[in-house]
Amino acid sequence: MIAENIAFIRARMEEAARKAGRDPKEILLCAATKMNDADRVREAIAAGVDCCGENRVQELTEKLADHAYDGKPVHFIGHLQTNKVRQVVGKVDLIQSVDRPELLACIEKEAAKQGIVQDILLEINIGGEESKSGFSPDQVPGIAASMESYPHCRLRGLMAIPPISKNPGDNCRFFTEIQRISVDIRTKKYNNSSMEILSMGMTDDFEDAIACGSTMIRVGTAIFGARNYTK
Ligand SMILES: *Cc1c(COP(=O)(O)O)cnc(C)c1O
Repeated sequence: MIAENIAFIRARMEEAARKAGRDPKEILLCAATKMNDADRVREAIAAGVDCCGENRVQELTEKLADHAYDGKPVHFIGHLQTNKVRQVVGKVDLIQSVDRPELLACIEKEAAKQGIVQDILLEINIGGEESKSGFSPDQVPGIAASMESYPHCRLRGLMAIPPISKNPGDNCRFFTEIQRISVDIRTKKYNNSSMEILSMGMTDDFEDAIACGSTMIRVGTAIFGARNYTK
């Protein structure tokens, strides 16, 4: 099932890229693995996802111990409490969900302590929703400009979760705005920032995200099926 789902998503990604005049190889498929056990994660990796994204520190820790992600990069994509930063920095290839200044400062401190450079994305709350974390669109350029003060972090790009869309196309204006912010920052060529990753698009809207410049989609449901939150 998982392998067939991934093959179908790949076909849709290619079609969306082709329509947008883009090279499908520019767009990575990140499996959002929350609530799926190590065996299912291994199945997704064997079927060719490019990386895995984990939401909860405890699940990350358990699956790392289980070698669930072996062979592919693992990213952290959930809300990260500062008291758990030590369990994530240096353990993941990319922290996609840096959503507030205190968290950035805390990651910097831990990375410095470990003597490493941690790759990060800044998360934008593009719809200005109260229920979501993330920097507001007008905060992001200032944070990017201050990256020199965080020499143990490397800013690789932006991540966003727009509002749940009711109709296809609803989120295009958000995706387009994120891309514009990203290009503006990249043009400035700040130290320790490369800004080549645009992590946007999920099960319900990844084709629109690809049309608007996404370079990484994060897909859970379309790979693993619906999550059972009652368990
Ligand atoms: C769960 C999750 C996804 C995937 O959502 P689906 O709609 O199941 O594809 C993507 N990004 C983040 C941050 C998530 O928590």
